[in-house]
Amino acid sequence: MSESTPTFESLGLSSALLHAVKQNKFSRPYPIQQKTIPQAIAKKDILGLAQTGSGKTASYILPILQRIEEEKWTDSGRNIPALVLVPSRELAAQVLQVTDSLSKELPTRVKTMAVHGGVSINPQMKNMHGVQVLIATTGRLLDLIDSKALSLSELKILVLDEADKMLNPGFQEELDKLLSMMPVKRQNLLFSATLNEKIKDVERVLLHQPVLVKIESEKKDVDLIQQRAFRVQPERKGPFLRYLIRTLVLEQVLIFTSSIKSADKLTEKLSKNGIEASATHSKKSNSARQQALTKFKDGDLRVLVATDLIARGIDIDFLPVVINYELPRSPKDYIHRIGRTGRAENPGQAFSLICPEDQHHFKVIQKKMGKWITLEGTEEVDLHGC
Ligand code: AMP
Repeated sequence: MSESTPTFESLGLSSALLHAVKQNKFSRPYPIQQKTIPQAIAKKDILGLAQTGSGKTASYILPILQRIEEEKWTDSGRNIPALVLVPSRELAAQVLQVTDSLSKELPTRVKTMAVHGGVSINPQMKNMHGVQVLIATTGRLLDLIDSKALSLSELKILVLDEADKMLNPGFQEELDKLLSMMPVKRQNLLFSATLNEKIKDVERVLLHQPVLVKIESEKKDVDLIQQRAFRVQPERKGPFLRYLIRTLVLEQVLIFTSSIKSADKLTEKLSKNGIEASATHSKKSNSARQQALTKFKDGDLRVLVATDLIARGIDIDFLPVVINYELPRSPKDYIHRIGRTGRAENPGQAFSLICPEDQHHFKVIQKKMGKWITLEGTEEVDLHGC
């Protein structure tokens, strides 16, 4: 694998956690995970700026699980070693679910619990013994501490998830109280969607020479991209694609399909018509994938046909054009796909071929993206000889 497409293996995770990641069908680390996991494993404090949906939960849970495994934080009684503070019950439940699914097949069982208001406190008190990862909202946590159900005096890792929300006036006082109950020497991981004055304040108090991890928002990338959409009948798609490549003299173009089968078929068709193309997808060997990507990045391959396998995380300097030969199912994947171009302040172009049956779905994608694209007719285009 090249540097620009890191694997989970390259992040320093233990073999048990690599197995867990596979079981969760995470094939590639998301950008926040690429940047956070190695630093968090090295016990650095981190200020992560990333939205929900970026994969930030795994970026802090995996290093926590790794430290539990390495440092054998077992049988800690009522002393909690790892605490994740969240602003809502919903988020507490979601973080617990991610934690459990990443830890359920580890060789030694990890005891996790989520505590929040709105449910009876008694079962939470009774089950607290030996909890290694506690996910909590601030109010209920304080109640539990008051009842002597747990102690934070030996805390080793503190995570503040959605810290921007947690610093609202309602939470601030409770948070300060909790911080005063923790040892000064601990690892702090703070995640926030925005970097505002409040976060800067808390960073000053909380973090020790933090590593700043910033994930560019997807919207910003989208604005740099010139998008065009073409209305095409299914039987004219192949010839129209070749027409685009030839008339616009596209010399380096990444084309996305929705399945492995159509990636292979399209590649074959392009090659047969004299346009050099290779396919990359999960059925290809690692070395074949790597070879195709390197050739493409170096400008030695005109067309790379890909599934969503490489829609995220790959970085191709100055890639000028991305074509959606077929639309992805999720609007998020659409944004990730077109985000391969127009990166690092370079303008890029993204074309989509839209069949009549795709039109409704394409509207959903545009709505989600917050951008509307004029659908250009192609009926008049003479495709003879394409
Ligand atoms: P989060 O931002 O932590 O809420 O994660 C958003 C979603 O992405 C969750 O459904 C995760 O299960 C999923 N996810 C996180 N990391 C990966 C990955 N590397 N590959 C695929 N899915 C992931």
